[in-house]
Amino acid sequence: MLTADNITIKVQTAPHSRVSEIDFDNLSFGKMFSDHMFMADFKNNHWGDAQILPYGPLPMSPSTSALHYGQSIFEGMKAYKNDKGEVLLFRPLENHKRINISAERMAMPSIPQELFMEGLRQLVKLDKDWVPSTEGASLYVRPFLIGTDEFIGVRPSDSYRFYIITSPGGRYYNEPVKVLVEPNFIRAVEGGVGFVKASGNYGRSLFPTRLAQQRGYHQIMWTDARNHRYLEESGTMNLMFVIDDVLITPPLGDTILAGITRDSVLTLARDWKMKVQERKISIDEIIDAHKRKTLDEAFGTGTAATIAHISQIGFEGKDYILPDVPSRIFSNRVADELDNIRKGRVPDIHNWMYKIV
Ligand SMILES: *Cc1c(COP(=O)(O)O)cnc(C)c1O
Repeated sequence: MLTADNITIKVQTAPHSRVSEIDFDNLSFGKMFSDHMFMADFKNNHWGDAQILPYGPLPMSPSTSALHYGQSIFEGMKAYKNDKGEVLLFRPLENHKRINISAERMAMPSIPQELFMEGLRQLVKLDKDWVPSTEGASLYVRPFLIGTDEFIGVRPSDSYRFYIITSPGGRYYNEPVKVLVEPNFIRAVEGGVGFVKASGNYGRSLFPTRLAQQRGYHQIMWTDARNHRYLEESGTMNLMFVIDDVLITPPLGDTILAGITRDSVLTLARDWKMKVQERKISIDEIIDAHKRKTLDEAFGTGTAATIAHISQIGFEGKDYILPDVPSRIFSNRVADELDNIRKGRVPDIHNWMYKIV
């Protein structure tokens, strides 16, 4: 494990806060950024220069390696303000573990836990006034790590920079989503980097997603690379179905991102003694369940949306309409429970909330 020599964080505060410019009742997603950002440098095999400074542009050489060969990984989590006015992060230690899984696969250095957590803690604490208390809103936290060598040969960078920026945001989707089963393009393949939050995974998905959007869908439902039969993920969310009262989700592996929301939803389902299956599920099985009227629910899970109900699935020129959202027992219950845990309205029995202030 790499250690941080010095996690004393140098703090340079912004001369004026921009928080009064934010309309907390009309937040969009990912467009506004809080007053400060965190960064730390990896050089000569160790981490140092941890600092918090005003959010702003970064001078960067055009030869910066991340821009050319994609040694660029990220994380996403949210900070919430609970009913007592406390600011808490949802399961940030899981994001720390996952960024290091991503780092290993991308031949990047791991980030010491103290550095990751201290950076997060001090940044979110300093910008605590940016954490919305409005229902459904939160402060989205985006840690990311990039290769910073000024070198355009293809090899792992020797130097890296780790950043954290934050952005207040409202609900990600305002309506249930319509998804299109993708029969040609793929998101991930065995042996690839589908399980990694690597920037390139998202760039490559934009073109097929745009084609689906031009046909009136919000997102793609990705299928397996070999046969395009097994469902994998939808957009940047894990996929879940409720068929005959059983919660079914594709199993983790090379091609599936191990979502923290996914894990949280499965944990709650098991707490509630619901039958849970992590197994391959084909589009044929979904269509069949739809015909038999046993496909009760379909939804995506992810930090941005938490639970995104799927209202319609397009496949081979036909649209399959799913039951009305209010009739969906499990996904509504689990969305409410996660909200209640974050707002401090029910006991946090799994210790998911990490208090900042
Ligand atoms: C981030 C992400 C998810 C969801 O992960 P969470 O930890 O729940 O936010 C799912 N799929 C992909 C491809 C992702 O990038």
